[in-house]
Amino acid sequence: MSFETSPEKIMNADIEILIDRAARMIAAAGKIVVFTGAGVSTESGIPDFRSPGGIWSKYQPIMFQDFMSSEETRRESWRRGKETYHVFADVEPNEAHYAIAELERIGKLDCLITQNIDNLHQKAGSSDEMVIELHGTAMYVMCMECGKRWPRGEIQELLESGVEVPGCDECGGIVKSATISFGQSMPEKETTEAQLRSQQAEVFVVVGSSLVVYPAAHMPMVAKQNGAGLIIVNLGETPLDEHADVLLNGKAGETMKRIVERVKEKIASDA
Ligand code: NAD
Repeated sequence: MSFETSPEKIMNADIEILIDRAARMIAAAGKIVVFTGAGVSTESGIPDFRSPGGIWSKYQPIMFQDFMSSEETRRESWRRGKETYHVFADVEPNEAHYAIAELERIGKLDCLITQNIDNLHQKAGSSDEMVIELHGTAMYVMCMECGKRWPRGEIQELLESGVEVPGCDECGGIVKSATISFGQSMPEKETTEAQLRSQQAEVFVVVGSSLVVYPAAHMPMVAKQNGAGLIIVNLGETPLDEHADVLLNGKAGETMKRIVERVKEKIASDA
């Protein structure tokens, strides 16, 4: 008879230990910053940046300068926007978004910095004041001249009625999705705020980001250098894996749910 433990069991035991360690760090800390990327939304059906066959590999990105300088490029951009609108409009949050919203509810979140544009954190219950959107939002369209904003759904109606390049009805300016395009400056207020919160974090939790898109990916390192504990929950490797205090290579939904459940148990047992 053999009493050898299967490799799978050993791995599960390791995961239990790591989840417990992550939960202990969060339960003990005052300022917890969560930082999310495209990987937090793949379980909702939005492909991440690098998955083959996804919307992002189908199209070459449109540079901000090209969008602003060429009517033809704007036409192409809105043609794509019309086609991909429902990818964002019809999705629902998954367990990872709900677990992060639960962290806020139990008073264990200082802020949520996201690179995502899909609004799924807010849809899961995270409050607007908590969410710092580093790359803007696909939920709105804005005039680049006067700043007027429209819900993206209103512009979709225009596109579907045959308008190819919407313009501002107020000032005639160029209108663009309120997302940050390649080549476009990062939003100043959000970037400064995110950097400050990262510096002040006691625990910094990365969920579903390859950490290769800068300057956003700089934030976990800022946190770490200022003394924060670093937890990384990601399926693939990241350049910061070796700096993580807890590295969980698992699915965001199940992993975050288990971490937050464990945090709640710890808080209850300390009460
Ligand atoms: P990325 O595509 O570079 O990396 C995503 C990471 O998530 C990968 O390392 C992958 O291994 C991991 N991942 C995928 N599914 C996962 C899961 N279920 N659980 C845990 N990890 C998982 O994404 P990024 O770092 O956010 O950078 C991409 C850029 O593209 C960002 O700027 C973002 O704004 C934009 N983007 C946004 C969306 C969105 O809003 N949902 C989607 C695609 C891209």
